[in-house]
Amino acid sequence: MSEKQYTCPDFPHFIHGADYNPEQWMDYKGVWDADMELMREAHCNEMTVGIFSWAKLEPREGEYDFSFLDEIIDRIGKNGGKVILATPSGARPHWMADKYPEVLRVGADGVRAHFGGRHNHCFTSPVYREKVREINRRLAERYGNNPTVIAWHISNEYSGECHCPLCVQAFRDFLREKYHNDIAELNHAWWTTFWSHTYDSFDQIEPPGALTETGVHGLNLDWHRFVTHQTMDFIKNETAPLRELTPHLPVTTNMMYEFYDLDYHKLSEVIDFASWDCYPEWHNGDDAVIAQRAAFWHDLYRSLKRKPFLLMESTPSLVNWKPYNKPKRPGLDTLSSLQAVAHGSDSVQYFQWRKSRGSSEKFHGAVVGHDGTADTRVFRSVQRTGEVLEKIDEICGSITKARAAVIFDWENMWALDNSQGYSNEGKKYFETCYEYHRVFWERGIDCDIVSPHADLSDYRIVVAPMLYLTDPETIKNLTYYVSGGGTLLGTYMLGTVDETDLCWLGGIPATALKDVFGIEAEEIDTLYPSERQHAALGDKEYTLQDYCEVLRLHGATVLAKYTDGYYKDTPAVTTHGFGKGHAVYQACRDDGALKDELLSRLIRNTGVYSVVLADKPLPHGVTAHSRTDGEHTYVFVENYSDQDTVTVPLRGEMVDMLTGERVKECTLQPYSFGIFKSL
Ligand SMILES: [Zn+2]
Repeated sequence: MSEKQYTCPDFPHFIHGADYNPEQWMDYKGVWDADMELMREAHCNEMTVGIFSWAKLEPREGEYDFSFLDEIIDRIGKNGGKVILATPSGARPHWMADKYPEVLRVGADGVRAHFGGRHNHCFTSPVYREKVREINRRLAERYGNNPTVIAWHISNEYSGECHCPLCVQAFRDFLREKYHNDIAELNHAWWTTFWSHTYDSFDQIEPPGALTETGVHGLNLDWHRFVTHQTMDFIKNETAPLRELTPHLPVTTNMMYEFYDLDYHKLSEVIDFASWDCYPEWHNGDDAVIAQRAAFWHDLYRSLKRKPFLLMESTPSLVNWKPYNKPKRPGLDTLSSLQAVAHGSDSVQYFQWRKSRGSSEKFHGAVVGHDGTADTRVFRSVQRTGEVLEKIDEICGSITKARAAVIFDWENMWALDNSQGYSNEGKKYFETCYEYHRVFWERGIDCDIVSPHADLSDYRIVVAPMLYLTDPETIKNLTYYVSGGGTLLGTYMLGTVDETDLCWLGGIPATALKDVFGIEAEEIDTLYPSERQHAALGDKEYTLQDYCEVLRLHGATVLAKYTDGYYKDTPAVTTHGFGKGHAVYQACRDDGALKDELLSRLIRNTGVYSVVLADKPLPHGVTAHSRTDGEHTYVFVENYSDQDTVTVPLRGEMVDMLTGERVKECTLQPYSFGIFKSL
């Protein structure tokens, strides 16, 4: 039985396309004709249009002109392509800012911005919300039943916060509801008795900032939550007319790499499928490391909705906004595009189709350069990617069934970074989560990246790195997972504070987690940056850095002991049977080798296996991933080495989908990939 799930049910094929800004070329005769021909040549079957088109669509208040969009959607349709239609709220026309200054954002310093830039509107402004609803309604009425349009792209890269009086009021209302209109409850949750910070009423509360308050951690955390809440509320307002008039069209918004400000686990509740803009800094160091970190985010976006996602933007060559902007080397362009597909993307899309002639994006990579021809290295590599996607089209809609997961949580990250203590020069939460994910990536084991509240029952191994903030729901979820037979690896700082950033009393890890892990953490030694300590596991010694937590045992078995420090010979790693499962605790941060050894053991013990024939890490820079439609397994093997040709044995005979041959192993040149189908 097919287990496929499509992002865009009206178009069950791989999408190969780009952001397209034809309104920049309206005065250039022949460019649109050339674009249509070049799209066919590039094997592009989709364009995302309208992202920043508001000034063209509503040149004066209430005066709408859809003629350019009518013509371009018609042309793309006749050209055999599809359109993902954007709502234009990412940037507004000048007249709106002039007439309604409330649409402009106010910074933490209380200063309201002038017109300019983008992604800088107030999320609360009733005027802006009304204007967005109105233009979205007109777009839905006009194009909602156009067979060329297959999905909605809502706004663009939602981000930022606003401190205007309307937003401050909305924040107070958010807190009133959360704390049951009881200021004493808020004062307790935020521990405001210190420094005489007690609030007398909700009306006294201001967002955190340099001119107000930064020392109340509960306030900082609730402000982060409010920003996500208000962005989601704005999205609900944006999508209301679309949901009403075009319920058949799925809705997405494009998310970002290492994005800090919004809780995407929550935000994904108001979209139908995930999509994101992937711009790794290739060739700045070891491409294997860069690929693995990009893989973490691909895995996260697949896990958000537990179904395929879209790679909404990527560059076919280089970007223009990093400190140094280097083109992708030959081979890596198609490899990095297929990386997304290996992790569950049903598209490869670029920013942008045609390179702008002027302003800030004139040097950002594009499929068509300023020469306007197909005769470039970049164009040929896009063509090649398109040809590959056509060959493997049957994979579209297939899913990933990971048996391993790493927990990553925005609220935990905000609370950790907030905390004054440990190292105040950065807690390294991203890096720590990447490091545990790396162990699976290097072995070709599919891995999900999930919220601490996610259903964990599909996983045989779950890693919870630095899960400092654990609310009662998380404690219950982890306890249930282990008692039901799961294997959980927790680390230092687990279960330190509750959902409002108050320390758990009665020792850590919090409440039931002490029973699950059979340990208690008594204190933590923060090491200076150059300081190293050690732990012994079996007859091998491992190097530790940054954090060594000192444990007391409550039933756990010691796996590794510290070999130096004032806690020499005390437990550094423990394991504990709980219910039908096991809870392993790593009390210290290591340089990579210890977590490799620990996870190798857990992988063996739990029967989690690589999608290729491997019981140890693949050659450096090589990885593998799988997708399935319920009948066939599709295996992607990728080589990010710029020098080494490698041979990887498959788990039995498979069909090479690029050559049609039956093979038992694959040989990959530097920067190349193979795609295989089970028999
Ligand atoms: Zn505002």
